[in-house]
Amino acid sequence: MRVLIVEDEVRLAATLQDLMELNGYTADVCHDGEAGLDNALSDIYDVILLDVMLPKLDGFSVLRQLRSAANATPVLMLTARSEVTDKVTGLDCGADYYLTKPFEPQELLACVRALSRRQPELRNTDVLEYGDLKLEKNTFALSCAQRSVRLSRKEFDMLELLMRNRDIVITKENLLLKIWGYESDAEDNNVEVYISFLRKKLEHLHSGVKIKTIRMVGYCLEASAI
Ligand code: CA
Repeated sequence: MRVLIVEDEVRLAATLQDLMELNGYTADVCHDGEAGLDNALSDIYDVILLDVMLPKLDGFSVLRQLRSAANATPVLMLTARSEVTDKVTGLDCGADYYLTKPFEPQELLACVRALSRRQPELRNTDVLEYGDLKLEKNTFALSCAQRSVRLSRKEFDMLELLMRNRDIVITKENLLLKIWGYESDAEDNNVEVYISFLRKKLEHLHSGVKIKTIRMVGYCLEASAI
């Protein structure tokens, strides 16, 4: 489960990220509306936590643009303001829920759980499949026929992203951003290291799926025809 946090108050954003990660979510943080929209449009998130007052692009505009791009990711609006008009504006823009700061961590977690359950496709995607591979989201187990290995968190996130995007090339920058987040100082070779871990595991499984390197661009999956 991947959560995007769009919040310009750096300490609150970090607290939210810790809270999400402690509860088993992968969480990315953006500190302004433009970066938030850009990341949200990638459509890899299960839930988006969106602040209203944001630099560059406010939360309502982010939400409006997201919905007009036919992105239906559940959005939980967060704001310090409690005026009714804000709530109405938020819901009119396509927010799924509205939480006024300060809020209890338990309340936030309950909302995130409720919103992620609402996405019908998620119920059936506990197992992702590609070629001869099956990736289990609950156990991080990757299997091929009778063989199975367990992936680390980062390996899982990376392979999940590749499997969800099927035959689309994912750039190194995108992988860095989605797996390590905006604030991280991870570099390109982190991606290479994890790709090589994944390739070893695919070999071990005798899978026909390969991670193809597209020179100077990135990676994509390829299932060989047998
Ligand atoms: Ca703010």
